Amino acid sequence: MTKHVLVLAEHQNGNLKQVTYEAIEAARLSTQSEGDVSIHLAVVGHELQEVTEQLKNSGAATIYSVDHEDCKHYNPEVYAAVMMELIEKAGADGVVFGHTTIGRDLAPLIAAKLDAGHISDVIAIEQSVDQVSFTRPIYAGKAFEQKTFRSTPWVLTIRPNNIPAAVGSDVESTIVEVEYNQPSTLRTVIKDVVQKSTGKIDLAEAKVVIAGGRGVKSSDGFKPLEELAEVLGGAVGASRGACDADYCDYALQIGQTGKVVTPEVYIACGISGAIQHVAGMSQSRLIIAINKDPEAPIFKIADYGIVGDLFEVVPLLTEEFRTV
Ligand code: FAD
Repeated sequence: MTKHVLVLAEHQNGNLKQVTYEAIEAARLSTQSEGDVSIHLAVVGHELQEVTEQLKNSGAATIYSVDHEDCKHYNPEVYAAVMMELIEKAGADGVVFGHTTIGRDLAPLIAAKLDAGHISDVIAIEQSVDQVSFTRPIYAGKAFEQKTFRSTPWVLTIRPNNIPAAVGSDVESTIVEVEYNQPSTLRTVIKDVVQKSTGKIDLAEAKVVIAGGRGVKSSDGFKPLEELAEVLGGAVGASRGACDADYCDYALQIGQTGKVVTPEVYIACGISGAIQHVAGMSQSRLIIAINKDPEAPIFKIADYGIVGDLFEVVPLLTEEFRTV
C-alpha cells in the first residue's frame, strides 16, 4: 500500500535550503519499498512562486503551497496549524523536517498534536526486508542508536549534510494552492531581528566551516578566519566561549546549545574542545584543529592537528589556498 509522506520545504529569501532536498530523499527512504511512497511538500511562507518553481521537479507528487503574510516569518502556532491541515490533506503517514531551528521546534509540537512517534536528528536511514531503521547520535555524539517506528503517523527530523539530496524527477509535481485559515490564538510579531551573518553561506549547510573560540581574543580576531572562509567558500562558526565573550553573535554558536554542523571540513581555531562544543561538530568529515596548547582536548578528535598560534597559522593557510 502506498505510504504518504509530507516534507516541510524550508526556504529563505526565495531560495530553498539544501536540507529540503535531503528531507525529500529521507521521505523516499522511509518505507521498505521505495516505489510505495508518495511524497508531498508543504511550502509555507509569503510570495512563494519562486520557491514552488524550484521544487516542481524535485520528485514530489504534490506541492501544497500556503502563501500568506502571516506565514512570512516562522511562528510556531501558525506553522503548526498549517502543517496539521496539510498532514490531513496529504493523508500523511509520516512527516519529515530538517533538524534546523524551525524543524527542531516544530517537529515535537506536531508529534505531540498527532500523538505520533518522533525520531530526531537522524543521520542515516537503512532499509531492510522487514523494517526501516533510523540512526541518530546520542550522548553528545559519543554513541549512536538505531530506532524504528512501530506505528503511523510518525515524525522525523534529519541532520543537514548527512542524507544525500534527492536527484529529482522529469515528472512535474501538482501544485495545490491551499487557503490560509488563521488560527484563533496568535502571537504578534513586534520586531523582526535579522541575524548577523559573516558570509553568504548558511552555517548549518556549509561544506567548510572555520570556527573560532576564545583563542581569537576579540571580534577583530575573527577577521583572519573570515578571510580563510572566503577563500575556501565556507562559513564562519564559533564556540560558546567566543560568543559569551562577545567576540561574535550567538547565531554562530556551534554545539549542544547551538547549531549542529556536519561539513566536509571543520577547522577549529583556538577552541579547546569541550564536550558541549564537540556535540555540535564531531560528525564533520575532516576535523583540523589549530591550538597553541598541545594538550587541548580538541586534538583527541581531530584528524589533523596544528600546534601553533592561530594568528600565524590561519593567514598562512589562507595564502596557501589562495594560490591553489
Ligand atoms: P576555551 O575553553 O577557553 O579554549 C580556548 C582555547 O584557545 C584554548 O585551548 C587555548 O589553548 C586556545 N588558544 C588561545 N590562544 C590561542 C592562539 N593564539 N592560537 C591558538 N590557540 C589559542 N560550548 C560550545 O562551544 N557550544 C555549546 O553549544 C555549548 N553549550 C554548553 C551548554 C552547557 C549547559 C554548558 C555548561 C556549557 C556549554 N558550552 C558550550 C561551553 C563549553 O563548556 C566551553 O566552556 C566552551 O566550549 C569553551 O569555549 P572555547 O573552547 O572557545 O574556550
